[in-house]
Amino acid sequence: MRRIEAGSYYSYLPEGCKLCRKGAKLVLFVTGLCNNRCFYCPVSKAKFGSDVIYANEREVKSAKDFLEEADLMGAEGIAVTGGEPLLKLERVREFVSIAKKLDMHVHLYTAIPADEEKLRKLSAVDEIRFHPPELMNPDAYVEPIKTSKKLGMDAGFEIPAVRFEKRIVEIVNETDAFLNVNQLEVSESNWKHVVERGYRVKDYYVENQDVVREYEKANKFHYCSARFKDVAQFRRRLIRMAMNHPEFYAVTRDGTIICCRIEGDLDLAERILSKWEVEYLRFEEYIETSPDIEVEIREALKSEGLKLSLVERYPTSNRLVVELTEI
Ligand code: SF4
Repeated sequence: MRRIEAGSYYSYLPEGCKLCRKGAKLVLFVTGLCNNRCFYCPVSKAKFGSDVIYANEREVKSAKDFLEEADLMGAEGIAVTGGEPLLKLERVREFVSIAKKLDMHVHLYTAIPADEEKLRKLSAVDEIRFHPPELMNPDAYVEPIKTSKKLGMDAGFEIPAVRFEKRIVEIVNETDAFLNVNQLEVSESNWKHVVERGYRVKDYYVENQDVVREYEKANKFHYCSARFKDVAQFRRRLIRMAMNHPEFYAVTRDGTIICCRIEGDLDLAERILSKWEVEYLRFEEYIETSPDIEVEIREALKSEGLKLSLVERYPTSNRLVVELTEI
């Protein structure tokens, strides 16, 4: 087993996980619709059951939104997830086709033991991860795994470490598939059901190492810890996004960005900044410029009644503010 960040380890790391580790994978939430009701479902109450599309934090109304997000993070791959993606098969095919034209790796999650006809429609996908709801009836996925591999996809199971299901390991080894086991994360949407079933919750995850150790019997095994998602995957994606911003933004070790925000009469602010040849970005409600803006320019802006703040925020499309201090 090779040990990596934050308690994760593997004997086999699928390509999609390699990109995720680099922070280079865009998460495409393709629909919130799903016919299952897994007690550990991590999908937020706001999204579950709604037919909405998100590329990372960005709501997608058209292909343009998806492309903007892919560009912002310099995506090298996409993870198609939901809800149940296969309830919107044609939509999935459209996004997969766009991603493949951009030479991106595509991996897809599904809880449906899809037949050959459906899998053929997905043959542009590089990697498919089956999730038996609540780990029930894994045998239903034997043929889908074999067919996916025959069609050229890498295939396997991806499951949360809720209990040991011996048959999953047997199928993985019989079909030369991979097994991804995720530490169970507790969120606003699932904590009540998780606690009710007697799982021991620590911080925002469940410690279930005995179960994980049983799954190590799979020949192609990967364990992904909840903390890995924060310290590696998410942080690295933020850094990639931050680096794709204009140079005047300062980038922190956590991948947040620092800038000077200007509010008020933005046309007037633009005239002043242009006069001093200062680089800036204009949004609907404010302008952002360098946090090191010269005192003279700062005073010129303030003397015209403009409000200036030092802002630390996420480089994501929702521009979530971590800290704001008026200057
Ligand atoms: S199959 Fe996935 S999306 Fe559907 S309820 Fe289960 S965990 Fe949630």
